[in-house]
Formats: sequence, structure tokens, C-alpha cells
Amino acid sequence: MSSTSREWIRQPIIVVMGHVDHGKTTLLDKIRGTAVARKEPGEITQHVGASIVPASVLKKIAEPLRKYFPKLQIEIPGLLFIDTPGHELFANLRKRGGSVADMAILVVDVMEGFQPQTVEAINILKEKKVPFVVAANKIDRIEGWKPTPDAPFLETIRNQSQRTINILEEKIYRIAGELYNHGFEAERFDRVRDFRRTVAIIPISAKTGEGVSELLALMTGLVQQFMKKKLVTSSEPAKGVVLEVKEEPGLGTTIDVIIYEGVLKKNDLFIIAGKSKPVVTRVRALLMPRPLQDMRMHEGRFTQVEEVYAATGVKVSAPDLDDALAGSPFYVIPDETRLQDYLKMVSEEVSELRFKVESD
Ligand code: GDP
Repeated sequence: MSSTSREWIRQPIIVVMGHVDHGKTTLLDKIRGTAVARKEPGEITQHVGASIVPASVLKKIAEPLRKYFPKLQIEIPGLLFIDTPGHELFANLRKRGGSVADMAILVVDVMEGFQPQTVEAINILKEKKVPFVVAANKIDRIEGWKPTPDAPFLETIRNQSQRTINILEEKIYRIAGELYNHGFEAERFDRVRDFRRTVAIIPISAKTGEGVSELLALMTGLVQQFMKKKLVTSSEPAKGVVLEVKEEPGLGTTIDVIIYEGVLKKNDLFIIAGKSKPVVTRVRALLMPRPLQDMRMHEGRFTQVEEVYAATGVKVSAPDLDDALAGSPFYVIPDETRLQDYLKMVSEEVSELRFKVESD
């Protein structure tokens, strides 16, 4: 692995955005639950700050949808979801010229339609040029709705009365109209002809699970069709972003990092932005969540690994992290003679970042 370079397609990094109480957390819980229940033995779905829906699960979910998406083959290793929804964590995913997030799910309560934070989220996604789909959530609350837990939307819709279908259609049109006011053409996902021009609206219930499989399958299809090249990474020094800075009992200050390119190894030299100046230090330990089944009272929540590959969320323990800045870029420095280049790069990026924070 160390001498020969290797290439692979990484998981796309996905964020969930939307107005408070529209169901972001419930949707992430549902997705995580699906991933855990349907994974193969030994597959790890829990990362630090993120969860993965592995390819094996995407395959199982896509199976009942084969009649609607006959050509869907799973070519990506999975989808990586940032665990904490909303604007704040999204702000920490910045990278030069955009966002570390490859795609977003904008959750809109189908009963309430657009609300102030929905608009804020759209504006952020527009500014950062992050493609998104809209999850029209809480369809189970539509008058007369007869739920079939975890069923695909296109199946459960057939069990509804014409009246209930009409109410849903009206609400979807309303959301499409709001999107139009913000510069986007939008349609219910099964009526979209060109996904490059039209935002897909997927009716779901995060509570009953209806439509969630289509949401995941659709995102997989979109990513594979439109951003596969962007997802190619190789066994090069890691690039990432500091999602959060956290005090951990027994470890001191640690950073939770989303790695979007390359490989990160124990003892790697890396640079991040600090509150006053860049911090250059070495990885002391790479920590991943301990799988629930072998959690021992005295062993703590984390387990050590020697290396991690993009895309992943990992906790990094290292000396001198007290001044670490959330939202900072994270770069492994391949050899010490290049330290000056990296110091310059991080200083530049961070002055942009500070300017951004002040003008927000
Ligand atoms: P967040 O603030 O966007 O993360 O919203 P939450 O996930 O905390 O959800 C807010 C409330 O809406 C909670 O009481 C959820 O149980 C409820 N909720 C979320 N999704 C659904 C859904 O699909 N159907 C129904 N009936 N309730 C939902």
C-alpha cells in the first residue's frame, strides 16, 4: 500500500439541512437505523461525526425499486452522512472554493412548506454550489394517509384515496413553487426528465420510513451519474476539514476530522489552523467509535486504528490541539521540506475563513 499508489471511488459526503422541527434528526436516525439493520456482519457504519450507508445496504434497498430504476447498479462504496444536521456544522465543512459536502438533502415539512431556515439553507447551498434534493417530509400527516412502514413512496401512494393524493399533489406543487421563486425548477422525482436542470422532490415520512429507500437510491443514482469523477481519490496524503474540536476524558483536546481525500496514518505530520496561528503536529492516535457489541465499561467509546481512508470521519488525538479551530482545513504534510508551502496555504485559507466569519 505504501509504495504503490492506488485509486478508488470514495463515498459522497452528504449533509441534511432544513428548518427546525421539519424532521432532519428523525431522518438521520431513520437512515442510520436502516444502515445498521441491513448491513453485512462486520461492516462498520458508525464513524466519528458521520455515518455510512454501505454499498451492501444500498443494494438491498434498491432491489424493490428495480422496476422503477431498472438500470441502477451500485458503483460507489456507500453514502457518508454528516451526523449533525443544520447550518452550523455545514459552516464547518468549508473548503477553498466551496464545501466538503458533495450533496445535500433539504428537508421541508410538507404540511408547513418553506420557512425562514429553509430559505437560509437554500441560499447557503446556492452560494457553495452544493447540489441538493428536497425531502418533502411528514407525508404520514396528510389527511387520510394510510401508512405502510418503510414502503417505497411509489407503492404506498397506490394505497391512498384520490382525495389524499390530491392534497399531497397540492402540497408538492406549493413546494415546487417556492423553489421556483428561489431560481430552481422542481418536480416530484418520478416526473423529472433531466436531473441536471430540475430539483427532485421526494415525498417521505422520516417517521414511518416511507419513501426513504427512494431518497437513498435517487441520491446514489445522481451521484453516480453526475459526480463520479469528483469522487476519485488515491493513496496520497490526507486532506480534510476539522468538523469539531472536543475535550475527551483521558485524551485532552481532540479534533473530529472529515477526510475527503487520501489516506491518514498514525504518526503523520499535519497542519491545521489555530486560533492565533497554524498548528503543526503529529497524529498520536486515530480513533473510531467502538462497535456497540464489544463496548466494555472500562475501554471507553473509541478504538484505535492505524490508518483511515477517504471518505471517513475520524477523531484525531495529537499534542498541541488546544488552539484548534473548528472549520479549519486539515492537511497531511508529505515531507518536512514542504512545511513553508503548507504554512502559507493554511494561513491564506484561514484569513479567508476569518473574513467570512466576521462578515456572516
Ligand atoms: P429537526 O429539528 O429538523 O431535527 O426535527 P426533528 O427530527 O427533531 O423532528 C421534529 C418533530 O417532528 C419530532 O417530534 C419528530 O418526531 C416529528 N417528525 C419528524 N419526522 C416526522 C414524520 O415524518 N412524520 C411525523 N408525523 N412526525 C415527524
